[in-house]
Amino acid sequence: MKKVEDYVRTIPDFPKKGIMFRDITSVLQDADGLHLAIDEMQKLCGDPDEYDVVVGLESRGFLFGMPIAYNQHKPFVLVRKKGKLPCETIEQTYDLEYGQATIEIHKDAIKPGQRVVIVDDLIATGGTVAAAIKLIERLGGKVDRCVFLMELAGLNGRKNLEGYDVESVIRYA
Ligand code: IMP
Repeated sequence: MKKVEDYVRTIPDFPKKGIMFRDITSVLQDADGLHLAIDEMQKLCGDPDEYDVVVGLESRGFLFGMPIAYNQHKPFVLVRKKGKLPCETIEQTYDLEYGQATIEIHKDAIKPGQRVVIVDDLIATGGTVAAAIKLIERLGGKVDRCVFLMELAGLNGRKNLEGYDVESVIRYA
């Protein structure tokens, strides 16, 4: 029986030299891989009675977060790169290896007190998810858990997420 990691394809030197890119298209384009990935991530989200909303991070977080929200009959909220969301937003800027990035959420997407699970494909430094947590908390949401298909453990993204429950299906050293 294949495991979900058997479906991930690793591309050396993409998008630049020295990076081992973990490609999820090979997971999604196999019916068994797709089922396994969603099922494993959904399990890591925990008891659906303990969260109210699933938030997905652009763009691969949408692919995994949306089916989980649908299966569990929860709302799905998009965190997007700046300039893509049409209504009133709040934004958060964070540091990248070179430069900065800004993400946004609609102001009305999270109600005060709602318990949130954040979903993304991969945690590297943890900068993206830490910025998403700030957005959700600024709207009064409570981040219950962050769930990833893959974790690049060597980059220690968890240090940016102390005090939060972080779960991943596959850990790479
Ligand atoms: P972080 O902010 O450093 O944790 O980077 C996480 C973001 O970078 C996620 O939204 C990922 O989609 C993306 N990312 C970084 N490395 C990879 C990779 O090897 N495969 C797929 N996505 C990646």
